Amino acid sequence: MDNFIHNKRYTVMGLGQFGGGIGAVQFLLRHGARVTLTDQRPADQLADSLAQIDISRLERLTLGSHDPADFMSADVIVVNPAIPRDHPLLELARREGISLTSEMNLFWQHNRGKVLAVTGSNGKSTTTAMCHAIMQAAGRRCRLGGNIGCSLLRVVDEILLDDWVVLELSSFQLHDLNRISQSPDVAIITNFSPNHLDWHGTIENYRYDKQSILRWQMPHQTAVLNRDDADVCTWPTNGRRLDFGLTAPTNELGMIVDEGEVRYRDEHRAFHFPLRDWVTLPGVHNFQNALAAACGTLAVGIPLDAVERGLRGYQPLPHRLQFVAEIQGRRFYNDSLATTPESAIFALEAFDRPIVLLAGGYDKQVDLTAFAHAISRRTKAVALMGQTAGAIDNALSTSPAARRICTNFRDAWDWAFAQSAPGDIVLLSPGCASYDWFRNFADRGEQFTAFVKEFRSKHDSLVATNESEEN
Ligand code: ADP
Repeated sequence: MDNFIHNKRYTVMGLGQFGGGIGAVQFLLRHGARVTLTDQRPADQLADSLAQIDISRLERLTLGSHDPADFMSADVIVVNPAIPRDHPLLELARREGISLTSEMNLFWQHNRGKVLAVTGSNGKSTTTAMCHAIMQAAGRRCRLGGNIGCSLLRVVDEILLDDWVVLELSSFQLHDLNRISQSPDVAIITNFSPNHLDWHGTIENYRYDKQSILRWQMPHQTAVLNRDDADVCTWPTNGRRLDFGLTAPTNELGMIVDEGEVRYRDEHRAFHFPLRDWVTLPGVHNFQNALAAACGTLAVGIPLDAVERGLRGYQPLPHRLQFVAEIQGRRFYNDSLATTPESAIFALEAFDRPIVLLAGGYDKQVDLTAFAHAISRRTKAVALMGQTAGAIDNALSTSPAARRICTNFRDAWDWAFAQSAPGDIVLLSPGCASYDWFRNFADRGEQFTAFVKEFRSKHDSLVATNESEEN
């Protein structure tokens, strides 16, 4: 039994919908803690998550609002990553000397395996999942978790010394890492651009939190940095440093693209290989993700043939430039996870056909000018959604693209569809978060996919009717 957990009073603040809160509660109960669970959302909005917990074993369950007593009576509070750290109840707890932790920090403190972790403003999940696919292709015992959506606290007791853990880490999770001064064996940073400024307050805070992934690294640990990113390439590390990039001098360690071929070099090995042929996903951004994943896994001795098999067999994650269907000559793509302008710009650059775009959403207070330029250059029409619709519309004032500020998602879909013609791409790539109109990005992507399916069934029944009339 763990002395820091057994019989101690833990309050889990924020159950969430992505498994972190569930994992924390299950882990703490398993280790004999006295667990209180509290969430601001009411029970009906948390039904799926609550169903995965043995509620009868909780000390207290407070839903719909928080009760200060749940905080004041705790030895430790486990804070959901999305909750701002200046929340009044956390300030109060801090003043009372109550410890704060997080699901991810509990994992770090109990994990025995080796950790490869990925962060960045964009491309984290894809790069993380690619690393996992490569590790699996190499036959390594390997777990996938973190911000990608599954809590490894559920299985942390089963992870052995030689196992690999591949983690996606968000800036919120990295913020907490400073409390325990830990860094991964391999840290990959995909890129850096302003994001989540509503949570971090300033870009300096956001950068500081992202850099936590490197802050505690030792020389035997490895940092894999994007050399093409003017910000990331300056980040300091005490670890062994490898770079990846589309352009780069040949005399450094890491991965470069040289006359169409990719070269990798570290202290022990050097290869060149046709990485482009192994990447099945569209867009230069996904090629960059593959460069990062290949570099990070080669850096720990994974064989090149496993990199090839892992990438060739890689199955795209849902909601990331995901092809949904082709109907009446229109190709529909769900890129709901494009919650930043940069990722939506990459999506717009990935196609060479006319694009009808659905864009806009919750206002994270990031600059949307570059996104508006890309919309103007690449789309024939854009349906504008959510809080940022007006701002994008203003930035598009001189654009030839047809546009409309929509009142709800159905309105956006109907209008966007009406603008499309055979040969076009109909793309949901909002460049903004989803919280204003949707429960989350997955809800947004699923609603889009449902509209496509609804259209497909109408189309199929029309075709069937026409065929029967012709016969
Ligand atoms: P994250 O986990 O950082 O949100 P994902 O891999 O889930 O990143 O992808 C989220 C969105 O960003 C998708 O729309 C995807 O097409 C886009 N994207 C993926 N990789 C990159 C990248 N390297 N640069 C910019 N955008 C990217």
